[in-house]
Amino acid sequence: MTEDEKTREQLVNELSELRSQNATLKESITGSITECKQADTALQESEKRFRHIVETSMVGIWVFNEERRTTFVNKRLADMLGYTVEEILGKRMDSFMFEEDLEDYALRAEPHRRGVPDVFERRFRSKDGTTIWNIVSESPLIDGQGRLTGVFAMHTDITQHKKMEEQLRQSQKMEGIGQLAGGIAHDFNNILATIMGYGEMTLMKMAVNDPQRSNIERMLDATDKAVHLTKDLLLFSRKQVAAKKPVSLDMIIRNVAKFLLLVIGEDVEFKAIFHNEKLYILADQNHIEQVIMNLVTNARDAMPEGGACTITLDRAELDDEFVAGHGYGKVGSYAVISFADTGCGMNEETRQRIFEPFFTIKEVGKGTGLGMAVVYGIVKQHDGYINVHSELGIGTTFEVYLPLIEPAASLKKTVTNIAYSAGGDETILLAEDDESLRETTLTVLKEFGYKVITAVDGEDAVIKFRDHKDSIRLLLLDLVMPKQNGKEVYDEIVEIRPDIKVIFMSGYTPDIVRQKLAIENRVAMLSKPISPNYLLQEVRNALDSSK
Ligand code: ADP
Ligand code: MG
Repeated sequence: MTEDEKTREQLVNELSELRSQNATLKESITGSITECKQADTALQESEKRFRHIVETSMVGIWVFNEERRTTFVNKRLADMLGYTVEEILGKRMDSFMFEEDLEDYALRAEPHRRGVPDVFERRFRSKDGTTIWNIVSESPLIDGQGRLTGVFAMHTDITQHKKMEEQLRQSQKMEGIGQLAGGIAHDFNNILATIMGYGEMTLMKMAVNDPQRSNIERMLDATDKAVHLTKDLLLFSRKQVAAKKPVSLDMIIRNVAKFLLLVIGEDVEFKAIFHNEKLYILADQNHIEQVIMNLVTNARDAMPEGGACTITLDRAELDDEFVAGHGYGKVGSYAVISFADTGCGMNEETRQRIFEPFFTIKEVGKGTGLGMAVVYGIVKQHDGYINVHSELGIGTTFEVYLPLIEPAASLKKTVTNIAYSAGGDETILLAEDDESLRETTLTVLKEFGYKVITAVDGEDAVIKFRDHKDSIRLLLLDLVMPKQNGKEVYDEIVEIRPDIKVIFMSGYTPDIVRQKLAIENRVAMLSKPISPNYLLQEVRNALDSSK
């Protein structure tokens, strides 16, 4: 073998070895590529899976950079705030917060700079303006050089819990105040009854020209006011017994609407909108009337420059969703009376406190702060709910929910209720020294067809009677009046006309007054304040009674 041949052979060998090495290499490269491809698919899969978890998570996820600009949000978070993901991307996270909270947030965000995670409760403003409460857990995102590049935050919606918590706190507060107020009012009422009873008797026994008369009258006036206050407190604390009967709300509103017009004055436009079906509830009619009166009075007070007040009657089904959303309520069918005004509205601080007894922002002498407390007590006693929406300068809407009952169960009773407001055309002599009370009573009676002759005190009453003795059928007499008291007036008139019918009105009517003055039991004695319907009912009864 020549040198040359040897080299060639060697070369061939080497070449074939190289080839086989090459093949192995190729094989291994192809293998690696396949592995690589597989790994890539796995990565993609896992990313997809991860993304799916993030997107469908019940937890809202919000990632933002060090300028707080959003770099990522999941759909859940966008849904919580009522936006689309695109609407949030690129926006500053704190632009969704409340202005008042920004300072506090700046302080809380400080730990991020030191790389410490933090958990806190925070509220956000949703697209439709409602407040959304979240528990937020924020973790800083730190790059390789240890610099803060942003924040990764997880949000859980706790808005419903917050509402329930608030509702619970509110009802516990009201319960506490109610017990306190009720306890005081009860004892107080008994004390007042004594003062009033002996005061009225003293006055009645006094000579007409006794110089001490006016002192006692003033004492009685003040006691009268205190009696009204305690009555309201008793209503608030639900210590007052409610006489519940099936009634149609339509009927109550229609009845009371006439008096609302008097309350509301001329520059407020009043409207009542009824539901297409009659709504029946189990209620004390006088109490529901008082709720309506108090709410409308407040609406009027909120509109000194005039405006509109609308009462709307509707029905609503409270379902689980409503209960969860509002934090209160029992599932069922309800009648809803809403009272909307275009008045001054109120701020959040006021809104929180309106149901507290003696809370008022009206000037001294204008408001007692008991109107809403009474409304609250009555609504609760009827197993109902009340809520309020108010905006400063725009107006206020109260919604009263009362449980509905089956119309069938109520039909029989409603007939008597309609009879409540029956009027007449007889002539009545009304003697009342309090001018505003006299005017109101006069308006109510005239509204229902009666002819009314008014007298400003006892002496005047007797004179007016002599002038019209043939036409007057009924005497409506305040018991305590200057110059001659109601009983004396009656005794004098009955000498002239033995068949005359009478109703006494009094600030307070303890049975002792009846006894001492020898007022027979069958003679009606109304205790003030007298609800218009009750007055009309008693007037009709007295006129129809055989004497
Ligand atoms: P009062 O009318 O004697 O002040 P209320 O208990 O009736 O007492 O009302 C308490 C407070 O609630 C009022 O002083 C007022 O600030 C607020 N308020 C009630 N109703 C309205 C309303 N419709 N618009 C604005 N504020 C209201
Ligand atoms: Mg009021």
